[in-house]
Amino acid sequence: MLAALDLEGVLTPEIWIEVAEQTGIDELRRTTRDQPDYDVLMKQRLEVLATRGLGLPDLQAVIASMEPLPGARSFLDWLREHFQVLILSDTFYPFAEPLMRQLGFPMLLCHDLDVDDAGRIVDIRIRLRDQKRRAVRAFRELNFRIVAAGDSYNDISMLAEADAGILFRPPDKVIEEFPQFPVTRSYDELQAAFLEARDRCR
Ligand SMILES: [Mg+2]
Repeated sequence: MLAALDLEGVLTPEIWIEVAEQTGIDELRRTTRDQPDYDVLMKQRLEVLATRGLGLPDLQAVIASMEPLPGARSFLDWLREHFQVLILSDTFYPFAEPLMRQLGFPMLLCHDLDVDDAGRIVDIRIRLRDQKRRAVRAFRELNFRIVAAGDSYNDISMLAEADAGILFRPPDKVIEEFPQFPVTRSYDELQAAFLEARDRCR
C-alpha cells in the first residue's frame, strides 16, 4: 500500500509565503487559495521576481533557512515504516531540495524550472497537468492501493482518485465544500487516519 502526501501545508510551510515574508514582497503572498489558476499565479510570481531582480539563488537562500513543520520528520519516518511513501507536490525541484534534505529525501514528484546562466528563472516546466491525480491513478493501475493526504484545493482530485483521502489542517472553505474527507489537525490524528484507512482498504 502507498501513501501519497502533499508537501506544503502537510510537511513544510508554504514556500512562497516564506519567500514573501523574508523578501518583504507582499505580492508573492498570493497562493492557489487566492488564484486557483496555477499557471496564471506562477506567471505573476515570475514577473514580480523579474521586476525585483530576484533569481533562483536568492530564493534558494530563503528556502534553505526554512524547516519542515514541527513533528513532520518524525511523522514521515513513522509513515515510511508502514507505507511506501510518495510526495506529490506542485512545487519545483530546485525549491524543494533544501527541505527534502531535512526530510531524508523521500521520493518526490513535482515540476521543474528553466533557469538561465545568470540564475534568472525564465520559465516553469510543468511535468504533467493534473499530475497529482494522474500519479495516483497510474499507481492504482500498477495494482497499488493508495491513501492520500493534502491540505487544499489542489489536492482534492488526488484525494478523490485515491482509495482513501484525508485532509490535514485544511481551510474552512475546503472542509465545507468537501465533507466526504476526514479532517485531521495534528500528526497524531493524521497517523490514526492513515492506519484506519489502511485497515479499511486492505
Ligand atoms: Mg499544500
